Amino acid sequence: MTMQITIGWLYGAKMNIYGDRGNVVALQQRARWRGVDAQVQEIGIGEPVPAGIDIFFWGGGQDQEQVAVAKDIAGAKGEAIREAVERGAALLSICGGYQLLGHGYQPHDGEMLGGIGVFDAISTAGPTRFIGNVTIESPRFNTLVGFENHSGLTTLQGDCQPLGKVVHGHGNNGRDGTEGAIYKNAIGCYLHGALLPKNPHLTDWLLQSGLRHRYTEVDDLTPLDDALEFLAHENALSRSRTQT
Ligand code: GLN
Repeated sequence: MTMQITIGWLYGAKMNIYGDRGNVVALQQRARWRGVDAQVQEIGIGEPVPAGIDIFFWGGGQDQEQVAVAKDIAGAKGEAIREAVERGAALLSICGGYQLLGHGYQPHDGEMLGGIGVFDAISTAGPTRFIGNVTIESPRFNTLVGFENHSGLTTLQGDCQPLGKVVHGHGNNGRDGTEGAIYKNAIGCYLHGALLPKNPHLTDWLLQSGLRHRYTEVDDLTPLDDALEFLAHENALSRSRTQT
């Protein structure tokens, strides 16, 4: 039997800066390399969340795109995503998407943009734009590398767990040493890059989580030759070490 998996790409046309679509490509391709029939469904403004999404992806976007998207995600749409995460769907969100998966984001200008509360976190635009290579150490994924470009400062609340600790770069807010957030199989972070092509171990965790959301019995994914991916990983790691 050919296994199937559906990737729901939230606001792919509106929120896709800094190469974040590369995460969708990595997820789909690494699934296909294992013989999994991986389909991508874009979920745009005004479109409902289809049933049966196994992995959600939501990329970054400028403040003005976030205004339009925040209006769209409020109510039933956001509730559908939150319920899917509670049922075990996997999710990866980057920067602007991450901010709106918390309780909200206060941009430099205008009103607070409501979030959907997957993560117990709140974000507000800060005085400085953090731009540069980032390395973090994660208890679940060891080293992860990416590129940040945000003025938003995210504060985790309650017992919301960070994705990892910042080794190089700024992370959530440049203050408390945390980067990102993780809840069940949902991850939010500021790691553009695109993140997944240079962190194949994270890609495979998301794929495994998505397959286990759809099937009860899922073997571990067959290993791939990740020499090139880890060459890119090491290159990003060394760049974050030497950046001033
Ligand atoms: N507008 C948000 C910020 O600057 C998110 C930007 C992004 O998605 N890179 O923090």
